[in-house]
Amino acid sequence: MTAQPRKPPSLPFRIGFGYDIHKLIEGRKLILAGVDFPSPVGCLAHSDGDVLIHAVIDALLGAAALGDIGQHFPPDDPVWKDVSSKKLLRQVCDLLSKHGYRVHNVDSTIILEKPKLLPFKEKMRENLSGTMHVPLHSISIKGKTKEQCDAAGAGEAIEAYAVVLITEAGGPPR
Ligand code: MG
Repeated sequence: MTAQPRKPPSLPFRIGFGYDIHKLIEGRKLILAGVDFPSPVGCLAHSDGDVLIHAVIDALLGAAALGDIGQHFPPDDPVWKDVSSKKLLRQVCDLLSKHGYRVHNVDSTIILEKPKLLPFKEKMRENLSGTMHVPLHSISIKGKTKEQCDAAGAGEAIEAYAVVLITEAGGPPR
C-alpha cells in the first residue's frame, strides 16, 4: 500500500520582517516611534520619516502577505506629506484586524550613531504599544551603532529592522 502524503497542520502564527533606511539631513525633525528627538538632523522623507514605524509597518504587512508600505501609502501621494507615521501604523493594524489577525509581539532594532536612544526608549515603546493596542511587555526596541561602517556609521543615515508575530483570530492569548 502506498503511503499518502500527509498535509501538515497549519499553525495559527505568521511571522513578518521589515526594514527601512532614511538619509539624515539638517532642517528636518528626527521622529522615532513618534518621539521627537533633540537632534540637529532628521530623516529626509515624504512623511515624518519615522524609520522605526516604517519598518514595523512593513513587518506587519509582510506577516499578513498584504504588500508593502509603498503600495499602501505611495510617497508621491500628497495625502501622506509630513503625515505622522503613527497614523499609518494604526491604519495598518486596522487592516490586519479586518483580515482576522492580531499582533502578538514586535521586536526591533534601530541603527544610528546619535543621539542615544536609551533616555527615550520607554516613551517609544509606550507609543507603539498605545498605537498598536499591543501590551507594553510585547514591544521591544533595541539600539545599535554601526561602528563607523557605511552611511549609518558615518551618521548620514538611520536604519531600522523589525520582526512581528501575528496570530489568527482565536489563536493563543498573548
Ligand atoms: Mg521610510
